[in-house]
Amino acid sequence: MSEPIAPSEPPKRYLIRTFGCQMNEHDSERIAGQFDADGMIATDDVEEADVVVLNTCCIRENADNKLYGTLGHLKSLKDRRPGMEIVVSGCLAQKDQGAIRERAPYVDLVFGTHNVHQATELLHRSRVEGPLTEILTETVANDHELFPSAMPPRRDQGHAAWVTIQIGCDNSCAFCIVPAVRGPEISRPFERLVDEVRELAADGVTEVTLLGQNVNSYGRDLTLAARHAGDDVRVRPLFGDLLRAVGSVDGIRRVRYTSPHPKDLRPETIAAMAETEAVCEHLHLPVQSGSDRILAAMHRGYTADRYLEMLRDARASIDDLAVTTDLIVGFPGETEADFEQTLELAAAAEYDSAYQFIYSPRPGTEAAEMVDRFVDQSVVADRFDRLKVVLERSALAKHEARIGRVEEVVVEGPSRRDPSLTTGRTRQNKLVHFPSDRALRVGTYALATITGAAPHFLRGELVGVVAPARHRTRIPVASA
Ligand code: SF4
Repeated sequence: MSEPIAPSEPPKRYLIRTFGCQMNEHDSERIAGQFDADGMIATDDVEEADVVVLNTCCIRENADNKLYGTLGHLKSLKDRRPGMEIVVSGCLAQKDQGAIRERAPYVDLVFGTHNVHQATELLHRSRVEGPLTEILTETVANDHELFPSAMPPRRDQGHAAWVTIQIGCDNSCAFCIVPAVRGPEISRPFERLVDEVRELAADGVTEVTLLGQNVNSYGRDLTLAARHAGDDVRVRPLFGDLLRAVGSVDGIRRVRYTSPHPKDLRPETIAAMAETEAVCEHLHLPVQSGSDRILAAMHRGYTADRYLEMLRDARASIDDLAVTTDLIVGFPGETEADFEQTLELAAAAEYDSAYQFIYSPRPGTEAAEMVDRFVDQSVVADRFDRLKVVLERSALAKHEARIGRVEEVVVEGPSRRDPSLTTGRTRQNKLVHFPSDRALRVGTYALATITGAAPHFLRGELVGVVAPARHRTRIPVASA
C-alpha cells in the first residue's frame, strides 16, 4: 500500500515595499526574482503577505521615521498572524546595522546592500536559526553575486530592464550618505554588460536603463586594476563606449542612463549619445545649486558657468535633447543671494523638468555637522515655492513647444489618473496620455500627435503602432 501523500504547503506570498532611488528599486526586483525562483508568489496585499520586505533608503528625508512607522504597523499585523515574516534590507539597514534589531526585535531578518544576492538563503536560515542580522561590510568579488543585474530578475515592465553597470561612489558630496553605505566605485566588466543586454534583448526587452551612482566614471577602476596587474591598457572602456556597444545590440530600441555627475561628463559621452540612434535624447544632469559658493561647500567640483557651458555643448550636439536635473534648496549656509543664483541658473538652463529637494541632514554626512548654518525652515519653504514657479514655467514652455509634433511613445499601460486613457513615454522621457480605441500592450511602440501640454505631462492622439511588444508575458506559476 502506498503512503498517504501529505498535502503540500501553499506557496508563500511576498510583498516588497521599496523606499528610495532606482538602485533600490532594482535591488527589489532582484530580491523578487530570487523569491519567484524559490516558488513564492508576489502580492500587493499586505493582509495576505507571508513575507514583507522593506527595502530601505537612507538618502531621503525622515527615512528612520518612515521605517519605524511602517514597522509599527507591521508589528500589529504580525501580532495577529505570528507566522508572518518581516525583513528589512537596503541602505538604512546597512548604515544602522544592529540598531534596527534593537528597536524592532520582532523583525525576522535584516540584511544590507551587499547581501542582496543572499535574500532567499538568509530567509531560509532565519526560519531555522531565528531572527538574523547579516550585513556584509564589503562587496564580494564575484560579479554574479556583487551586481544585482547578474541575478535572475523579475521585471515589472517586461519590455524594459535596468542594468547595474557600477556600484558605489568615489565622490564626497557633503550632503550624501551613498559613499558611506555603498562603498567605493566598482564597475562591471564591459563584455559581461554587453552580454547581459544581448540576453535581455533575446528575451524581448527593447529598453534598458544603465544604472550607477556616477555612470560617467564607469571603467576608471577597471583600468586602474589592469594597470596594477601589469597589463598594457591604452584607454579604459569609457562610458561612451558602453553606450555605443549597448545601443548597437539587436532589438534594443532605447537606452537610458542615470545618473551622471556633471564634473565627469565627457565630450565622448555626448558624442556617443549623438551618434547612437538607440540612446534617448534625454540628459539628467543633477546641478544641486546655482551658487558657486554652495557648489564648493557641497564639493561638487564644477561652477554654475561650467555647468551651463556643458548644457550648451550637449544641446548643440544632440538634436531635441531634453534636460532634467536635481536641485537642493536650503543647503546649510545658503543665503538669499546664493538662492537667487540658483533661480538664475534654473531659468538659464531651461529645464524640461526637475526634482526639487529640501535639504535635510543625513547623519554621518559632512553637511549634517553644519548645524550652526542650517537655514530656517520657513525661509526654505518660501524658496522652494519660488524655485518651483521658475521650473514649472520652463517645463510648460518646453512642453507647449512640442504641440503639433508626432512623437514615438512606448506604452506603459492605462493612465493612473484616468484609466480610460493610455500612457506612453517619449524618448525625451515625457509622459503622453492619449485615448485609444484598442488595448495596446505594455511595451508597444506607437506614434502620437501631441495636442496639449502641462508642466508634468503631454496629451496626444494615437497615430498608429510602430512595433508591437516582443517580451513574453509572465504568468505566475504556483508550485504544485
Ligand atoms: S556623486 Fe555625490 S550625490 Fe552622487 S552618489 Fe556620489 S556622493 Fe552622492
